[in-house]
Amino acid sequence: MADYYDLLGVSKSASGDEIKRAYKKKALKYHPDRNKGDKQAEDMFKKVSHAYEVLSDPEKRQLYDQFGEDGLKGNSFQNRGGSGFYSYAEAFEKFGDVFSDFFGGRSGGRYKDAPMQGSDLLTRVSISFEDSFNGVKKDVNVTRSATCSECSGSGAEKGSPKKTCATCRGAGQVRVSHGVFSLAQTCPTCHGEGEMIEKPCKKCSGTGFVKETKTLSVNIPGGIASGMKMRVAHEGNSGQNGGPRGDLYVEISVKSHPLFERDGDDIYIEVPISYSQAVLGDKIEVPTMTGKVEMKIPPGTQPGTRMRLKEKGFPSVSSPVKGSLFVVLRLEVPKNISEDHKKVIQQLKPYEEDHKERPTLKDYIDKVKNLFKQHN
Ligand SMILES: [Zn+2]
Ligand SMILES: [Zn+2]
Repeated sequence: MADYYDLLGVSKSASGDEIKRAYKKKALKYHPDRNKGDKQAEDMFKKVSHAYEVLSDPEKRQLYDQFGEDGLKGNSFQNRGGSGFYSYAEAFEKFGDVFSDFFGGRSGGRYKDAPMQGSDLLTRVSISFEDSFNGVKKDVNVTRSATCSECSGSGAEKGSPKKTCATCRGAGQVRVSHGVFSLAQTCPTCHGEGEMIEKPCKKCSGTGFVKETKTLSVNIPGGIASGMKMRVAHEGNSGQNGGPRGDLYVEISVKSHPLFERDGDDIYIEVPISYSQAVLGDKIEVPTMTGKVEMKIPPGTQPGTRMRLKEKGFPSVSSPVKGSLFVVLRLEVPKNISEDHKKVIQQLKPYEEDHKERPTLKDYIDKVKNLFKQHN
């Protein structure tokens, strides 16, 4: 472990006050509320807390000066098992006076003025089918809270100091007697704040926050689907006491398309074909999201046949594999046909009874025959 004096950034001859001030600065820098989930900051917080514990105690400091870390071995505080370092909670418990000091000197609420992250926000954005396929940069308007610029979030009018709460005398708590017991309760006048605003800031009515509308440019990736939410870090409501903003979530809604329908990363399109195309086969042009492609209908194609065009579907937001485009062939039977057309169709009739040409019909007739044999 690094030298304790170096950790706190003080000289070997630093006074107790200097060490305390240095620790405050470092502890605030590595404070858990300012470094959420940051393992390195947590580590540093533990180290500076450990260094402070030693250097703030004249006896331990002398041992450390003389013998280094070895001088501290066997000392009771080293026997906390494992690393011998304080956890956040232990450090706050142990050095509470330091924290309450720099958090405004209120007792009963050491965390009260600690930096707090703002709340998350949700907004919805509607995009076209094409944009969901290609991806799009979209301007999103978000109405969120911002720290009041007039009072810097304090809620008090400029130049008007906060006054100590008269009810609890700044403690944030009051004692309530219940017979022989005396219980501590959050002060009802200041709600545990310990101080009151004398003149509330006019701009924010004393809340410390104002509403602001901001336009953010959000990159929406191709492949995004309706109902998916995108997280835009630190663009939500503003935090308290210098804490970071919450996150903004953008929920996507995709408009439907007149031709294409989406299922997962696949796209479906229905294409009408004629009787002669189905019987004789043909070449047709099919639209895709990236242009037209030519497709062959084989002779004898049945209605409802699905033809697959690989990688003509949506890009995936979670994998490099693209979806497919399924072309569903719908046989369109003509209605209200002309007399000439009728004559041609009538000529088809004798051919339609040929069971060699219509294997399904033969199969069906055989099954029906069988059914009645069993019944007799
Ligand atoms: Zn204000
Ligand atoms: Zn009070």
